[in-house]
Amino acid sequence: MSRMVEKQVRCPKCDTILSVNVYESINVATDPSLKPKVFDKTLNVHRCPSCATAVMVACDLLYHDPTAKFMVWLRLNEHQESGRRDFPEAEISRVSRYALGSYKLRLTDGWNEFLERIRILDEKLNEGTLEALKLVIWDQIPENAGIKYTGRNLHFLWTDDLLEEEVKLCFNFFSTGAAQVVRYPRALYENVLRDSPNLKPKDGQWTHLNLNYMIGQST
Ligand SMILES: [Zn+2]
Repeated sequence: MSRMVEKQVRCPKCDTILSVNVYESINVATDPSLKPKVFDKTLNVHRCPSCATAVMVACDLLYHDPTAKFMVWLRLNEHQESGRRDFPEAEISRVSRYALGSYKLRLTDGWNEFLERIRILDEKLNEGTLEALKLVIWDQIPENAGIKYTGRNLHFLWTDDLLEEEVKLCFNFFSTGAAQVVRYPRALYENVLRDSPNLKPKDGQWTHLNLNYMIGQST
């Protein structure tokens, strides 16, 4: 079951205070209609009654897929609150402690990373391989010359197998201003999968799987 909480937000355009109900956690098995809203970023968007501006309410959000057994938690202040974990207990308490032990539990601290993690788990890609692949392709993008890979400037988008015979993995990168999309053959992922150590975070443990995690694993 998905859960909403009441929040007050200020319209960035006209300063009107909106009192709105926003999702704190969503369960895409019981509420499948919410999933596309996550991906097109219309979940938790409300219209200002005064000026009609669309206001996206910045708040934490737990994404729960009980069928695929994973949860991805968007915690906007994760990096500032290390150690502090206010779990949306209402959602988590519906999953028995035993069942949660076989879940993939992931922390993220931004929307791009949140969507990326859901897609990686949706497509059942190897998460460690994907992170290693991102390191490989960052240096291959000409626009990135001289710009450091931070883990926040390159995200997996989705697999594109509709238009061409060769399956491509699509990534979004941000090196100079606006986001741009690059596509790499799926075969490159298979190569990295063969060569890289099989990095698998423990099931049942909240893990922030990012560049820092990868560095921590390799030292
Ligand atoms: Zn307004």
